[in-house]
Formats: sequence, C-alpha cells, structure tokens
Amino acid sequence: MSRIRLLSEEVASQVAAGEVVERPAAVVKELVENSIDARSTRIEVLTRRGGISLIRVTDNGVGMDRDDALLCLERHATSKIRSGEDLAAIHTLGFRGEALPSIASVSRFRLSTREHGALAGTEVLVAGGKLETVRDGGDAPGTQIEVRSLFYNLPARRKFLRTEATEASHVEHQLQLLALGHPAISFVHLQDDRIAFQLAPAASLLERIRDLSGPALAAELLEIPEAATSGCEGIRITGYIGRVGVSRSTRQQQVCFLNGRAVENITLSQGLREGYHTALMKGQHPVTFLFIEMDPAAVDVNVHPAKREVRFRSPSEIRQAVILAVRAALESDRTRWSAEFRPGPAAGPLPASPVRGAAPEMEHAQTPLPLPEPARPTLAIPPAAALPLGGVHAAGHLPAQGRPDTGPGGSASSPFQAPAPARQEPVETAPAPGPVPETFRFLGVLGKLYVLMENASGLVLVDQHAAHERILFEEMQRRMEQQGVPSQRLLLPLTLQLGPKDADWVERNMELLERAGIALEGFGAGTFKIDSLPVFIKAEDPAQLLHDIIDELRETTLQGARLRLGHDLIAKTVCRHAVKANDTLREPELTKLVEDLLACELPYCCPHGRPTMIQLSYGELERKFGRRA
Ligand code: ADP
Ligand code: MG
Repeated sequence: MSRIRLLSEEVASQVAAGEVVERPAAVVKELVENSIDARSTRIEVLTRRGGISLIRVTDNGVGMDRDDALLCLERHATSKIRSGEDLAAIHTLGFRGEALPSIASVSRFRLSTREHGALAGTEVLVAGGKLETVRDGGDAPGTQIEVRSLFYNLPARRKFLRTEATEASHVEHQLQLLALGHPAISFVHLQDDRIAFQLAPAASLLERIRDLSGPALAAELLEIPEAATSGCEGIRITGYIGRVGVSRSTRQQQVCFLNGRAVENITLSQGLREGYHTALMKGQHPVTFLFIEMDPAAVDVNVHPAKREVRFRSPSEIRQAVILAVRAALESDRTRWSAEFRPGPAAGPLPASPVRGAAPEMEHAQTPLPLPEPARPTLAIPPAAALPLGGVHAAGHLPAQGRPDTGPGGSASSPFQAPAPARQEPVETAPAPGPVPETFRFLGVLGKLYVLMENASGLVLVDQHAAHERILFEEMQRRMEQQGVPSQRLLLPLTLQLGPKDADWVERNMELLERAGIALEGFGAGTFKIDSLPVFIKAEDPAQLLHDIIDELRETTLQGARLRLGHDLIAKTVCRHAVKANDTLREPELTKLVEDLLACELPYCCPHGRPTMIQLSYGELERKFGRRA
C-alpha cells in the first residue's frame, strides 16, 4: 500500500505558516510590508492583547479588484515577480506570495479592499484557511486586513506564544523598524485602543528618528558623511550612528537596513564593531540607523521566509564599507570636538600655543584600511611650556626615538610623561588660527582625577587617566605602523600547548604575529615555542596573553587582523603606563594633557571605549538649579 500522499492546500499553508508567521509581530510585518509595496502613504495598525486576539492593518494603497482579492489568498500568488530571473533583482519587500494564505490558514481572517476610483470594493472572510464569504464591501479606497485569534486552530503553536506584553513589545519593535525604513509614510500604532505612536510623514530620516526615539537620542547621533564609502564600488551607506559613549547593552537599537529591508547579519555587526573598535565599551552594542544600498543581485534575501537574514556575495567588501562608514562618522565628530575645546590664544592662565596643526584630512575614501593615515597634527609648544617628552619609552620600555629627555623641568620622575611626538619638527600645516571664540580655561582638579575646565558651553570634566591612555595609545599605534613592533628575545623561551583549532590559527598567522612582535616556532602537534614578545608587553602570563589574542582575532578579517592585533596589544598595556587617578599633576602638565588629547584621532574616549571628557553645559546646570524647565 502506498504511503505517500499530497498534503491538502489547507495543511500545506499551515506548514508554511509555521515559518512565515511565528508570532504576531511577524504578521504585522507581512501585512505592513504589503501596504508599503502597495504604495500607501498612511498605514494604521491596531493590535489587541499583543496581537494575539486582533491585528488590523489599514492602508490607503492601490487596493485590489475582486479577482485579485481572491487570488492573493492562493499560495504562490504574487503581483511582484513573474519569473525566476526577477528573483535576482527584487525591489519590493514581498515576493514569495506566501504571507496572506499562510496567515489566513491560522486565524480568522478578513480582507476588505477597494481600488481607487472603483464603485465598490470586496470583502473576503476566511477562517482557518477556509473561504467563508465573498461580498461587496470595502468602504475607503485601499486595503484593510483583520487577523483575529491567531493560531486558534493550532493549539500547539499558540502555546509557544509568550506573554501578551512580550508579544506587544515585539510588535512595537517591528513597527518601529518599518517606520524608520519609510520615513515618508505616516504610521499610526494603536495598542489596545491606546496610541503607542502617531507619526506624521517625515521629511528626513533624522526627523523620523526624533519622532520615534525623542530629541535626546537624535542629538547624540552622527551622520555618516557623504563620501565615506565612495571608494567601495557598488555599495552606498547612509544614515546615523551614535557618538562615542552612546551605546546599549542589547542590539535593540542596532538597526541596519539593506535596500530598504531591516536585516540582521553577522557581517554587518562585525563591521560595526570593528569600525567603533576602541570607541565601544566591552559588552556594549552600538546605536545605529544604517542604510545600505547595493545591487540587489549581490545579495540573497531569499534565505529565510521571514527575509530577516541575508547572504552577501562578498561579505568582506560589505564589512569594509561598514567599517569605513563608522570611522568617517566618528572622525567627523572629532572636528566638532576640536572646535569646541580648541584652546585659543587668550586661553586662561596658560602659555598660548601659537600654532595648532590642521585637523588631518579624512582619507578614508581612498584608503583601503580602516584607519586614517598616521598623519597627525603636531603641536608646537613654546620652549617655556615644554614638558618632559619621551615618556613612552621611559614608562613603556620602547627604545628611544632620538628625542632626548630634555625640557626645563623635565625629569623622568615626573608623574606625567607626555609621549614623544611622531615627528620632531613642528609642522605648520595650517595658518595660525585667528581669534578663536571657543577657549578653555583650567579651573582645578577634583579628587586627584578629574580635571575641571571651563569652555564657552560650560564645564568640562576630563578624566586624566583615561585621557592619558588615549594619548599613549595613539602614539604607540603610530610607532607600530611606522616601524613595526620592536620585540625582545626572551631569555628563557616559553613553550605553549594549543588545541587543534588554535594551533591551526597560529600556523596560518605566523607572519602576522611576527610583525606584531611575537615570534613563535612550531614543533608540531600543537606545541609552540615563544622566542620573543613585544617590548612593551609585560605580561605575567604570556601564554594566557596569546590565548586571549587568538580568541579575539579569530573573528576578525585577516585584513583587519594586523591592526587589531597591534591595537589590542597596545590597549592592554597602555592602561598600566598611563597617569593614574592619584598622580598629582601640575597645571602646565594638565594643560598639555588636554592639548595632546585634543590632537588625537579619537579624543573623546580611551582605548577601552570609556569617555575621556564630559561636558556639563550651562543649559544642564540651569535645569539642575531649577532656573529653566
Ligand atoms: P507577496 O507580498 O510576497 O507578493 P503576499 O501573500 O503578502 O505575497 O501578498 C499577495 C499579493 O496580494 C501581493 O503580491 C499583492 O498583489 C496583494 N496584496 C497584499 N496586500 C496588499 C495590500 N495591502 N494592498 C494591495 N495589494 C495587496
Ligand atoms: Mg507580502
């Protein structure tokens, strides 16, 4: 007796529904995407009890005639693609022709639709996939779909739903993504008859973000500069990312759109992480509203029925583009910071710095690597204000680079060791600044740690330890890029035993490690001998250090790996050499510290992503003192 049977349409739809509509938020997504594809300008979504008892989506899109209203409930019925070739270039959100029949098979479903200009519309009622009624109806032009009692006929699935509150929050998140992706469309979301949000058509993405997330977050965002990804062929990235210091403990606000579709993708997350790199605290996630546009043929969105996942033809290119976009945005903020905190000729009681270098050009567009050129504005300090230089090698055991430890008052015992500048001669890269309106003035030190400064906007607090870490970090990084990492032979070579995976990684990356100052020799079977380590590493346990390095680097791209390796080694060590919280610094040293900090590529955070400076504006002070609402 033969045992194979074709499933009925009804059961087949229910099976498909398991993939497309796993929860109310997924239903909302499918329905709203259909409304967007139907060129609606206003979409209203009502949910009751987290969408479990009712989801109703009303749009003012093109609507359907009676034939289409019936056809759209058949499986694989779609108006959006016609042939297999169309799959290679999908411009609409939907294309599978699966959503409506799937949803209708697991709910009590009502479709009411009317084309613009049509005399009458159509109303269709379906219950658990069975067509029950077709009649004239549909009041306003557009489409309204009601989904009641989701999974009422599939108790097993219904059990998988979470609490109403959880489902409601998924629905809300989903709607926020859709609203962010389409700022020009007006969205209204009613939750159990309460208005969750009501968004007017927005002229720009930033306006939509402000309407959704409030002005406070919008003010913390940086726009991705136009030219950021101009060197990446076929990829364009626009949007906003959080400033340094703006991060979240979840990925909830790490939003990425690919050709208008919200996606989650490991390549994108990695790119973001690498782009921020030291500007992001461990365990935190960036806040992003990233819009990536690329040739639809270079990405496969047909990986999963919910289309949340995508597969890139060449992940490394897209990752690189994301890194460039993030770096360019972060760097753009640097210009703002320097402008705000730039010490002017009349600044406070300190000797004026006559010349400040121009901010380095942003060279991202042309540079293949994620970091800007090591060029750096060099501070020219009048001899009277010169501080002990060459602190890095004194503190960090780097070979001196020709700069003698000179300077009045300079001694190796000075608690603050400023790093030697990368270039010796003061370069006059920019005309001397004219009268600068923004100046800062030294006020004092709080708790032997926080340097208090005054600038035009109010009070500035600088964490002296974090600031010095950043300065040392960038200094060492420049040296490494220029000269490679000086390494030191170990008196007693160490042996290291690694598991097969780690051993394999080390085998393949010997050269990379060597350039980073770690010389290893393999003896087979996972045994290695460590001959030398970077001089500035004073690891108590080199084996552990190497394990850590391998763990961290395995996930990065090879291209990024060399930089990352250097950076991580440096970041691990600078902390120990930087000025500590309790070190007492004198005023000129503090001023120099702040000046050096402002000359850094990323002045506003230490290599571990913690802020170096905090601004307390007059506005905030006034609010705190109740002078202003
Ligand atoms: P897909 O979106 O993949 O084409 P669906 O099952 O979601 O598949 O929808 C089937 C078809 O029904 C769509 O191709 C479209 O022609 C039509 N349709 C669905 N929703 C709407 C709507 N809100 N307005 C106009 N047409 C719609
Ligand atoms: Mg659809």
